[in-house]
Amino acid sequence: MKIILKRDILEANTAEAEGNRRAFREHGVFVVNLMSSPGSGKTTLLEKTLERLGKSFRMAVIEGDLYTSHDAERIEGRGVPVVQINTEGGCHLDARMVAAAMAELDLARLDLLFIENVGNLVCPAAFDLGEDLKVIILSTTEGNDKVVKYPIMFRDADVVILNKADLLPHVDFDVDVLRRDLGEINPEIPVFTMSAKTGSGVEAWCRWLEGVVRRGDRAVENRK
Ligand code: MG
Ligand code: ZN
Repeated sequence: MKIILKRDILEANTAEAEGNRRAFREHGVFVVNLMSSPGSGKTTLLEKTLERLGKSFRMAVIEGDLYTSHDAERIEGRGVPVVQINTEGGCHLDARMVAAAMAELDLARLDLLFIENVGNLVCPAAFDLGEDLKVIILSTTEGNDKVVKYPIMFRDADVVILNKADLLPHVDFDVDVLRRDLGEINPEIPVFTMSAKTGSGVEAWCRWLEGVVRRGDRAVENRK
């Protein structure tokens, strides 16, 4: 019996991710990996972001989902090319799945690619997909303990979006506690507070992202 160590899996993934990154670079595609718990509002955020940046960039989406294509259908309704990856219960996307999805896209005609990861705050952090920017979406209904509970995820992230800010008066969430906890592990990280549903705060995030993509600020390089 051959036992495959977790380290081997991760090393193989990293090699595959470098291949993805080369292909994205060759075609000048900036890649954003969106990660969160289930129900944080990732798809709504993505819809609003696509709407706002539609005039600036040629965009596409890779949708990771456990079994369904509901999210992909919502995005497709926006007129943006979507490739769905069903992980069949798998709790994260890996670089090989993204490579297969990439093959379905015309990279030469893209500027910006969003990858909506599977809703999970644990393993997506360990699997490099070849992205330029790791975004974590956290919602106010999830409580204040997420940064402390999933430090690796938040340490490796490049930006945090606090979503469902419209619910702040009704939920037990303290934005200062979030900033304090992030300050301990990732002090420079930008935090955008918004409500993707009402649209408040979406503009600041989109303007920031637009600048990052135009300047080609590749967070992955800064990390190395
Ligand atoms: Mg979704
Ligand atoms: Zn997983």
